[in-house]
Amino acid sequence: MSADDKSLPLVFDAPRRAMPPRHLADMDLEQSRDVVTALGLPAFRAKQIANQYYGRLVSDPAAMTDLPAGAREGVGEALFPQLLHPLRQVACDSGDTRKTLWRLHDGSTVESVLMRYPDRNTLCISSQAGCGMACPFCATGQGGLTRNLSAAEILEQVRDAAASLRDGELPGGPGRLSNIVFMGMGEPLANYNRVLTVLRKITAPPPEGFGISQRGVTVSTVGLAPAIRRLADEGLGVTLAVSLHCPDDELRDTLVPVNTRWAISEVLDAARYYADVTGRRVSIEYALIRDVNDQPWRADMLGKKLRKALGQLVHVNLIPLNPTPGSQWDASPKPVEREFVRRVREQGVSCTVRDTRGREIAAACGQLAASER
Ligand code: SAH
Repeated sequence: MSADDKSLPLVFDAPRRAMPPRHLADMDLEQSRDVVTALGLPAFRAKQIANQYYGRLVSDPAAMTDLPAGAREGVGEALFPQLLHPLRQVACDSGDTRKTLWRLHDGSTVESVLMRYPDRNTLCISSQAGCGMACPFCATGQGGLTRNLSAAEILEQVRDAAASLRDGELPGGPGRLSNIVFMGMGEPLANYNRVLTVLRKITAPPPEGFGISQRGVTVSTVGLAPAIRRLADEGLGVTLAVSLHCPDDELRDTLVPVNTRWAISEVLDAARYYADVTGRRVSIEYALIRDVNDQPWRADMLGKKLRKALGQLVHVNLIPLNPTPGSQWDASPKPVEREFVRRVREQGVSCTVRDTRGREIAAACGQLAASER
């Protein structure tokens, strides 16, 4: 793209589905050194800039006071294009939950949700604009996949939240971002290489990354079995969450359509491999849908299958279904939910019900973005 293209009216941006311009967070230190030296700056500036970004959470070179004033504009253009533009921000739970809808350079939208708890601060991030997995109960799944996010588009969600917490923008005073879950829009393992870059940069200490503990990071997947195995071998200690939602293939084929490609037994085998290699317990996500997947016999079957496949290396998170607009599905009644938990536990499998932050701000996967469409 020539520099002249910048003068095109915004309307020309709309149909483009190109990846965004490259950002510092897409690069390793060596690549950013090349950019910095091409700007005529000494190579050591690259490390300084990375420390500003990952260590101090600064993305505006104008605020990088350790850079020569005359160099800041060039650095901004070459390394810090603005990738995320806040469109809307909504809060609930007395301000402890905050959801941000971002507009990307090509007009597509993604969400992230920041949740403050007494003992931790969790950010739920998006890895794709839209999602290609087409799960019928999920708002994002209804819109299809627009495109993968770049590593920097994902990492900017993290930096923004970490800076908000540090600056005390949420009630309860300044805090530290401790947990990250890939449970926003998109299927993270379908954007594998970028998500891997992101995982390394979330967990590496500055100047290579944000220095968030691997134990605090959870990758949630529909169950792309080969990618689960690959992730196991990357030497990361992040938690794997598998969106199972159902213990039998017949129903799961409809709830999680990719099940027709990798069936439950293959997904659980891959999860077992992940647990064995990493030593980490796998989370099983199960959205309880009234009269669809909440029957007592399914609870028994779930407990038995998980016990057999994963032994003690598993925990079930039941998620009361957050109904999407226009869907005929609803959450299970509380007594049904309690019985489901009891039966799963009876099989020797640990099981809890996920707290449901952010219902009133449409914080179920993709709902805020869907409301803008
Ligand atoms: N694609 C990944 C991560 C994004 S969704 C995955 O499927 O795991 C994060 C979790 O929210 C998944 O378990 C997903 O099934 C669940 N989810 C999506 N829509 C939901 C809804 N309406 N109610 C409850 N859980 C939902």
